[in-house]
Amino acid sequence: MLSTMQDVPLTVTRILHHGMTIHGKSQVTTWTGESEPQRRSFAEVGGRATRLANALRDELGVVDDERVATLMWNNAEHVEAYLAIPSMGAVLHTLNLRLPAEQLIWIVRHAADRVILANGSLLPLLAPLLPQLPTVEHVIVSGPGDRALLDGATVRVHDYDELIAGRPTTFDWPELDERSAAAMCYTSGTTGDPKGVVYSHRSIYLHSMQVNMSESMGLTDMDTTLVVVPQFHVNAWGLPHATFMAGVSMLMPDRFLQAAPLAEMIEREKPTHAAAVPTIWQGLLAEVTVRPRDLTSMARVTIGGAACPPALMEAYDKLGVRLCHAWGMTETSPLGTMSNPPAGLTAEEEWPYRITQGRFPAGVEARLAGPRGDVLPWDGESAGELEVRGPWIAGAYYGGAGGEPIKPADKFSEDGWLRTGDVGTISPDGYLTLTDRAKDVIKSGGEWISSVELENALMAHPEVAEAAVVAVPDDKWGERPLATVVLKDGATADYASLREFLAGTIAKWQLPERWTVVSAVPKTSVGKFDKKVIRKQYADGELD
Ligand code: ADP
Repeated sequence: MLSTMQDVPLTVTRILHHGMTIHGKSQVTTWTGESEPQRRSFAEVGGRATRLANALRDELGVVDDERVATLMWNNAEHVEAYLAIPSMGAVLHTLNLRLPAEQLIWIVRHAADRVILANGSLLPLLAPLLPQLPTVEHVIVSGPGDRALLDGATVRVHDYDELIAGRPTTFDWPELDERSAAAMCYTSGTTGDPKGVVYSHRSIYLHSMQVNMSESMGLTDMDTTLVVVPQFHVNAWGLPHATFMAGVSMLMPDRFLQAAPLAEMIEREKPTHAAAVPTIWQGLLAEVTVRPRDLTSMARVTIGGAACPPALMEAYDKLGVRLCHAWGMTETSPLGTMSNPPAGLTAEEEWPYRITQGRFPAGVEARLAGPRGDVLPWDGESAGELEVRGPWIAGAYYGGAGGEPIKPADKFSEDGWLRTGDVGTISPDGYLTLTDRAKDVIKSGGEWISSVELENALMAHPEVAEAAVVAVPDDKWGERPLATVVLKDGATADYASLREFLAGTIAKWQLPERWTVVSAVPKTSVGKFDKKVIRKQYADGELD
């Protein structure tokens, strides 16, 4: 028997309409680097998004599911693009501005982007690529920047504000199939070519609801969230759509992502929540240690994308800021887990839960696959590869225009679960603890050493600012850990004392014997430790 319920498609169009009417007074505040930020209400953002849709259709001729790319920082115009492009039935394609040029070219060509919406400040990056982007016919430029860089380009160039000015604030939005493509994002291609993940209207809608639930980020219209995680990194963890749905005001840093302006915007604008990868919070901590700022408005922070060192959590606890650990990936929209502890515990009892990656929401089913593909128990001890499935989890990658979706066997199980490449355990009450990425685990004499455990232990040392541990080849053991350490200013710790410090918590056979002090750990395009680069640097196991 079928239900008697209405079958209303879950679409971004509905999020747009809801946000601009019911939550019309909520704000998108964009940092400008000048005395006053730019402030726009959701009603204005929604109105401008509608104008943008009109311009894309009437002036640029965007039809059907054509791809409209963005090469932008986090700002109000980027939110407008997030709402307009999917709502008109086209596909929003966020480009990661930190990728190497050849990867960006590959991605734009693969997605066959017809239009690129770019921030003026990013034209020095975009202009030289254009001759190699044959599918791109239009570039829309938003915000300050040298437009002369596009002189001579074969594309049509538009100014964002001029393009949308005077256009209607109504649009005959199509009733879309909720399963159709709304947005796409390529994984950063650490191995092989980048892979395109295509989100549906339905997946975005359901993911947005989950983000707002109290067991996830728990955001309401009383909150302002500082969205540091870039809009080109898994849709800023889904925040622009989720916030528009619940009327949560957004504070957008634009290109001002350094610790000092972040500290200033927190003190001045008083966000109640924020989201970013651990390296951002490490940097901010170093900044406020030297130049104290009041961060206490920001009571909750979602931290993920890489393991959060427990020492970082403790340091922020002391500042009155609670870091909440989350796990996810481009393929999971990204919300996979969040480490809210069960109710009714004391702070001390909560701690072991807080340092896990967290528990799965109802929309994410999880299982651990053992070495022979067997399903392992949730006993908090059996470690295996995490596999997940659910309505906002990818079941395949984009196969290119006219191509079939791609399902590589190392990424999807035969029965359709996503193989995450992450190794860990799950407790009987559903809390995930990741020990490592499968490719980062150090395989020493038939045993596994977790690089993350060593890093967390090292970053608990009072004189260590950052530490990354990688496997290097070893004649006797196959692989051994090599620790690269960034010391805090004025630190005097030497290798012997660091090793002794580790020996307090780490088994003796796991202690690294190779050490090097570096001025900075290399980072990926989304601010994570770039272990591929570190491994390459020390591929022969020798230190420089
Ligand atoms: P990339 O491969 O470019 O880093 P993603 O941003 O999709 O692309 O990264 C997803 C990966 O990041 C996960 O598979 C996992 O290895 C890592 N990750 C994400 N969140 C966490 C976390 N809280 N703890 C440990 N690792 C994490």
